Amino acid sequence: MNIQEILLQIEQEVHSDTSRGKAADYIPALAEIDLNKFGMAVHTIDGQEYKVGQADEFFSIQSIAKVFSLSMAMQQFDEKVWDRVGKEPSGTRFNSLVQLEFEEGIPRNPFMNAGAIVITDMITKNPEPMKKDLLSFVRNLTGNPNVSYDFEVAQSEKESGYRNVALANFLKSYNNLNNEPEEVLDVYYHQSAIQMSCADLSRAFIFLANKGFSPYCEQEVLSLRQSKRMNSLLLTSGLYDAAGDFAYRVGLPGKSGVGGGIAAVIPGQLAVSVWSPGLNESGNSKIGLKALELFTTYTGISVF
Ligand code: GLN
Repeated sequence: MNIQEILLQIEQEVHSDTSRGKAADYIPALAEIDLNKFGMAVHTIDGQEYKVGQADEFFSIQSIAKVFSLSMAMQQFDEKVWDRVGKEPSGTRFNSLVQLEFEEGIPRNPFMNAGAIVITDMITKNPEPMKKDLLSFVRNLTGNPNVSYDFEVAQSEKESGYRNVALANFLKSYNNLNNEPEEVLDVYYHQSAIQMSCADLSRAFIFLANKGFSPYCEQEVLSLRQSKRMNSLLLTSGLYDAAGDFAYRVGLPGKSGVGGGIAAVIPGQLAVSVWSPGLNESGNSKIGLKALELFTTYTGISVF
């Protein structure tokens, strides 16, 4: 199987697709992006890299960063993470408030905004050092010292983050936040505003394809058991209310973000990332989904 040829084939197929979705205009700084951007990158556990399109261009990874903050929380708190956040798919949109009152302030899972705000709170003692630690963690996994926060995007989210403010205050009212809502949200908005390329993202996700150990940075990021659990959660909740559709069409653990990125892993083999900024109704990259569906179809590899 020639992965480079497969990527080229996918690029060609999606190029002519005119229904490219809609940019995440609820965050004004993301609204103006060119919907024709497309990049895809594969990193294998034996260190091979394959790229196509704008695979080296930085974009806002948004909710994909929730995998990094959850990894940090699992490193520090292991199973105790689940005292404050659930492990069930939500079936609701990523920024939904609706279940939180019925379930007394325990978010359904760590990948919807409410859950990620709790995870961010868990690892934050002081917002400024936390932002530095998170960035070092991510730079180390990608091996790219240029990975950075896009301060314009973070500020834009802060100015338009009415739902996230509501979620954080609601969580605080249930005693499920230790920090003040605005402190947690400061870290959360920066986390969402991390910018990197598809190539960086595939390197950063490779530990999940290799039992928790990154052959790229030569470190155990999570234990075998933790990485197995992370992948299960990604499969059931990584794409919010479209997790079922993603499992059906692509069949891999994966995580999306409203910047139009999706990262996925084939355990024992590789990590694959794609970026196309137009989103469907669930807030997932429209062309990105199609590209990953073609990827598992043409390679014939899947977890099932
Ligand atoms: N920062 C975004 C938000 O809170 C993340 C959402 C996403 O990528 N799904 O709305």
